[in-house]
Amino acid sequence: MKNLLFVIIVLCLSCSDSASDKSKTEQVVKEFLPVIALHGGAGDLKGLNLTPAEEQQYLIVMDSALHVGYQILVNGGSSLDAVESVIKIMEDSPLFNAGRGAVFSHEGKNELDAAIMNGRNQDCAAVAGVTIVKNPIQLVRHIMDSSRFVFLSGEGAEQYATDYKIPTVDPSYFFTQKRWDQYQEALKEDKEKLDHSPSSEKKMGTVGCVALDRYGNLAAGTSTGGITNKKYGRIGDSPVIGAGTYADNDGVAVSCTGRGEDFIKVAAAHEINSLVKYKKKSLKDAVEKTLKEIVSKKGRGGCIVLDQKGNYYLGFTTSGMFRGVIDAQGNKLVKIYE
Ligand code: ASP
Repeated sequence: MKNLLFVIIVLCLSCSDSASDKSKTEQVVKEFLPVIALHGGAGDLKGLNLTPAEEQQYLIVMDSALHVGYQILVNGGSSLDAVESVIKIMEDSPLFNAGRGAVFSHEGKNELDAAIMNGRNQDCAAVAGVTIVKNPIQLVRHIMDSSRFVFLSGEGAEQYATDYKIPTVDPSYFFTQKRWDQYQEALKEDKEKLDHSPSSEKKMGTVGCVALDRYGNLAAGTSTGGITNKKYGRIGDSPVIGAGTYADNDGVAVSCTGRGEDFIKVAAAHEINSLVKYKKKSLKDAVEKTLKEIVSKKGRGGCIVLDQKGNYYLGFTTSGMFRGVIDAQGNKLVKIYE
């Protein structure tokens, strides 16, 4: 196995000093080389006309988030811990459409969605439409670890956060002038254009992370504010397990970004997992095939995918995707455009 660092044969001797005691327990521990990848959303990023200084800001946040996640993995932390920490950093940055930098809904609110999944046992949790939870990724981690629920929404999810002392904030915490201006623009365009008009799609900026830890466990997480000017309590793919987020040690960990409706229709993350797990497709082929289906529905976006061997693929159909990876050899890549 390519990513198998070494095999340690641990011989656990019985405590007995008896010479006749030959009973030895042989335990084989496989150790994997950690890998971590993230995205900060896909879309018409060339159309954003970012200045070099602005590009640098995105690259710096992605770079430092990757390093934090990688250090957790290298130090023996779990892929879930790495995913949660990376996404928390991106949620705290006003640059991305998640947590602090979330877009505004039609009602002028920041309605946040998130999901997390454990590839080892398919434990998972998600929240949708929360407006006061500082870090939705922290909330879903708690729900997954400590409750019998998988998917909570709105006020109920917020009540859960309050009950379990997950940090909450005044909704004004999520206000950023940039997102407000985008919202005003979308409100105006709404007169003649649908929410998913190309200009709205420029604003994708969901964040996601996939990780492989030293024990061979995959994890995936995604966090988003959704789409600018979304209406009627609309929920996208990000918190829908199997659509925007999925993890399976026997397949892949996936986090998607793009117009969520289309990713839900094709159950994108689960589809990619199935193509790899059952059809033995390469990660690239599985992602490309699934994205092709999404494009055929007039959708667009991207996915980051990682398997237990440390193979990864970062694919997208747009002019860019904020993305980064530290691979099994410790090589780092952080990019915005093709
Ligand atoms: N997938 C997200 C949604 O539809 C949006 C995005 O990725 O930018 O809510």
